[in-house]
Amino acid sequence: MSVAILGSLRRTAVPGIDRWCAAYALLAAVSLYMLLVGDPLNPIATVGASLVTFVAVALLVQGTRQFFGMRPVRRVESAAFVIVLVALVYVTCVSPNIEARVVLVSAVMAYGRIAVGTLALRHAPRDGALYGYRFVAAAAYLGALVHVARAVAVGLGVASPVTYLQPLPWSVLFLGLAIVTLPCMSIGMAMLAHDQLVRRMETLATIDELTGVLMRRAFMTKANALHSRALATGAPLSIAILDIDNFKAINDGFGHAVGDRTLTHFASVVSGQLRPSDLFGRLGGEEFGIVFVDTGKSDAETLTNGLRLAVERSPGAGVRCTLSAGVALIAPGDTLEGVMARADAALYMAKAMGRNRVMTSPDVDVREIEAPT
Ligand code: GH3
Ligand code: MG
Ligand code: MG
Repeated sequence: MSVAILGSLRRTAVPGIDRWCAAYALLAAVSLYMLLVGDPLNPIATVGASLVTFVAVALLVQGTRQFFGMRPVRRVESAAFVIVLVALVYVTCVSPNIEARVVLVSAVMAYGRIAVGTLALRHAPRDGALYGYRFVAAAAYLGALVHVARAVAVGLGVASPVTYLQPLPWSVLFLGLAIVTLPCMSIGMAMLAHDQLVRRMETLATIDELTGVLMRRAFMTKANALHSRALATGAPLSIAILDIDNFKAINDGFGHAVGDRTLTHFASVVSGQLRPSDLFGRLGGEEFGIVFVDTGKSDAETLTNGLRLAVERSPGAGVRCTLSAGVALIAPGDTLEGVMARADAALYMAKAMGRNRVMTSPDVDVREIEAPT
């Protein structure tokens, strides 16, 4: 089931999926082999089955690291893997000691699960639902607990290595937990992959690929919310529309690629200057919008002028560009479209007056316009 679930997600190319899938395939193969051959296995088969299990555990941990964008292989872990393997051969073939073997195998299983659970908790995204990450961690830690308990009990001689196979209530519970938490982890991993896909889709739908700023629709949605809040609280809110001057000439003179780099540079200069509370987005082409929260018109004009100077002074892609902007303040009873239209009209004036300047729109009271007394 785990292989089927994770296998179905392979084409999404979520990092780590291939390793998770291979790990569960190996675990399924070992379980099937043990089921068919039965216990006790001969020493060579025991070493083989344990080796495959160790590889599967390593793949689970490595896949989880990959999922979180980390380097999958750790040198210390690989060295420990070799040492554990040598120890396993020793206690299985050279000087057979079933207790030592059980402790060794349980320790490796516990390590793998603790590592996966800790990675899931530590690297879960700060913004968003943590459900899947906590689910993976809970399943991983619960499974780890069983293996630690088994290793300790067998290591201290409290339980015999085969006790857990007898039909006692606690051994059924322990064995059940050890078995059930493994597919639970894979279901949790599918949740993580799903979460990453949702994030990817959100980014695709909201972030402009070229400039890395909000796309028009996402900008308008957020701007609408800020606008409604400002109208409700009576706080000032200003909007600026920025347009790069003579951008067509940059495209025509230096090529589309330089034009693209100029756009990216422009957006990064403006983003770098803005306050965290300001909203910035690409309205289309070489036109951008800014919502200045809690900001009156003259402050917004000063801020936009600062952006104009910053852009003018920074040569991006070897090409200097300038911007013209129109600034407008929301009015009582205003709509977002209304204030943006006024900012647009001010931008038009800035262009008409020779470009590379910021113009403001005259203040209006929309209620007076719509319902004159
Ligand atoms: P103005 O000062 O009046 O704004 O003149 P302008 O040349 O900047 O304005 P115009 O609207 O004539 O040209 C805008 C150009 O922007 C035309 C279009 O090909 C180019 N453009 C729009 N989007 C992109 C893009 O993503 N990349 C590049 N390289 N060019 C783009
Ligand atoms: Mg332009
Ligand atoms: Mg334009």
